[in-house]
Amino acid sequence: MNNQYPIYTLKNECVDCYKCVRQCSMKAIRIENGHASVIPERCIACGHCVLVCPSEAKKIRNDVNRARAVLTAKKRVFVSLAPSWAGFWNCGEEKLIAALKKLGFEGISETALGAQEVSIEVTKLLSKRENKIHISSACPAIVDYVRLYMPDYTQYITPVGSPAMTHAKLLKKHYGDDIGIVFIGPCIAKKNEADRNPELIDVSLTFHEAAQWLAQENININDIEVDEGTCFVPQKAYEGAYYPIEGGMNKTIRLSGCAKDIQLVSVSSIPAFKDSLQNLHPDTIDRPIFIEALACPGGCANGPCKDPEKPGILTMSDILRTVKLRDNIPNEPEVVVEKEYVAHPQNTKKYTPEQIVEAMASIGKHGIEDELNCGGCGYDTCRQLAEALLSGDAEPSMCVSYMRKLAIRKASAMLRSMPSAIVMADADMRILETNEAFVRMFAPDLLEIFKDRPEGLAGGALDRVVPFVDLFKRSIKSGKDIHKERYAIDKKLYDIAVFEIERNKIVGAVITDVTQTEMKREQIAQKAHAVIEKNIATVQNIACLLGEHMVDTELLLSQIAQGYEETPAEEEQEFK
Ligand code: SF4
Ligand code: SF4
Repeated sequence: MNNQYPIYTLKNECVDCYKCVRQCSMKAIRIENGHASVIPERCIACGHCVLVCPSEAKKIRNDVNRARAVLTAKKRVFVSLAPSWAGFWNCGEEKLIAALKKLGFEGISETALGAQEVSIEVTKLLSKRENKIHISSACPAIVDYVRLYMPDYTQYITPVGSPAMTHAKLLKKHYGDDIGIVFIGPCIAKKNEADRNPELIDVSLTFHEAAQWLAQENININDIEVDEGTCFVPQKAYEGAYYPIEGGMNKTIRLSGCAKDIQLVSVSSIPAFKDSLQNLHPDTIDRPIFIEALACPGGCANGPCKDPEKPGILTMSDILRTVKLRDNIPNEPEVVVEKEYVAHPQNTKKYTPEQIVEAMASIGKHGIEDELNCGGCGYDTCRQLAEALLSGDAEPSMCVSYMRKLAIRKASAMLRSMPSAIVMADADMRILETNEAFVRMFAPDLLEIFKDRPEGLAGGALDRVVPFVDLFKRSIKSGKDIHKERYAIDKKLYDIAVFEIERNKIVGAVITDVTQTEMKREQIAQKAHAVIEKNIATVQNIACLLGEHMVDTELLLSQIAQGYEETPAEEEQEFK
């Protein structure tokens, strides 16, 4: 048994954009150590996060090897093929059946057969008029959504298994309880359904996984030879093939003879479903309502594992083209999977106002004016983020405005505390930013203005403050950093490093007064000279006495002395 949840995150691929958090209506995603991971207990496996993740970090569990294992373990294994197959594979049904059988399957059957059974049973249930509200159990993502997030409505879910489960039961009735069943469709939530009902469905694959498996076995559908009599077993499906398109289930219920006074409505997508059920109460409606609800907008045809390249309208058109109607629809289903759905309300912990205030403070929100509710973190409001922080599902670094303020504060603290002068200028050589050390160094007369104005010297002309603007101009033009080691201005020497901040737009410089250091070097050199000269005299005397190597020794000592002396006044390095 593979215990991995059907959707997971490749942490190294996650770029912390929080798009999945923003787009998951269930907020079933936790950010931990800067990376997003799905919370299985809250996830309904709608697959939306997989579709929206810009870095393809959200992945779907691959069950091909599990399906292979079923083929090895069981004598006969059948495919339950979702009716939206025609929107994914552009080939006739015979070629697809022949290709899938080459993988080792005993037979290929349409899940639509199960859908027809469900419609007949639901029509019967509706005709009893025992409830005013009925919610279809066909979509496992919707069923989980109701159980987890609208638990009071769980009682209205029709007490029958999904088309896939009903189809599995039908196949077992025809071919024996020992057969294996592999579902293939456009849905991720079906993996949850298979995991939870292993007695009916062994494994659930997506269309992509099945296509990958065929490719691994070098089976090319278009080139495949089709034997005579190749067809779906135990028979072709009829009206059940309408199911993957929004409104399709209701169509089949009408065809099954549903009374006209029962209102059949269809809703697709989680937000639309949530809205449509808001405040719905049986006492406020005068006739029974059946809600065909599907988590994917437009129906399963738009499931997360459809062909992403194919225009949606063509997908639907190709599916509808396969539908064939029968003259008589039975009044009784051949099989029914009786199913009781149990509410599983989420334990949303309530926090005290003090806890919320504390959590808000941790992201720099100290008053209502700080609450931007920008949604950048993935949550609609700052308060929702605060609650997620308290529950451990979020981190303070998710708040963009807080991180920005923090970065600005850190940068200005660094600017303030640096002993070197810092200045940044734009392409027009207008000052953008300076620190106090810069003003003290080059414009001490402006120190009061600098301190009084929140923007300091910003906007001022750089050439009115420093005489080396040409270095900035050259750097901004060439994109190269420039380093002057001993730049003389009046009686002072400066080390100037000019560097590009934004290509051709912003340039900055770090300037250090090195006059003192250079003077010390000179003093050391002078003292060294004196010592050397004394030494030379002594050595000359000794050499005279010894008559050896006097010239060599003098040369060597002179070189040492020169090393301490000042090198040329200006030394420039360009690098990058
Ligand atoms: S969408 Fe989610 S999983 Fe994908 S990169 Fe953004 S934060 Fe990470
Ligand atoms: S699959 Fe759906 S419910 Fe689960 S985390 Fe992704 S978007 Fe949320």
